[in-house]
Amino acid sequence: MDCIFCKIANGEIPSNKVYEDEKILAFHDIAPQTPVHVVIIPKAHIACADEIDDTNCDVVAHIFSKIPLIAKELNLDGYRIINNCKENGGQTVMHLHFHLLGGKKLGEKIA
Ligand code: 5GP
Ligand code: ZN
Repeated sequence: MDCIFCKIANGEIPSNKVYEDEKILAFHDIAPQTPVHVVIIPKAHIACADEIDDTNCDVVAHIFSKIPLIAKELNLDGYRIINNCKENGGQTVMHLHFHLLGGKKLGEKIA
């Protein structure tokens, strides 16, 4: 499958990794929107949040269980987690991912 994040997950495309285990990977975004901008992905391909169901939701819980650790690693004192879902939600890479944004005091509004 021609998916950039699958290629990052399997090492075909290099990334600046922050956290990795058997199920998930966190790496610095190539075009950071905030001083710290990390993308967290399941290694297994899930296209978007709209594809989450009872059979694959464990990895989403796993991602959220590791966010405090990843945030601590990055010295984040407060942060924002964003998921863009499908084209109308602003998603450009069709492999489920959560943006972890921080490194400054963020505004209260998203859009
Ligand atoms: P989306 O717009 O789908 O929510 O987010 C995709 C994110 O992936 C964007 O913030 C974009 O900068 C990032 N991105 C796209 N291609 C690459 C890449 O090859 N490497 C890294 N590290 N980030 C990427
Ligand atoms: Zn993928």
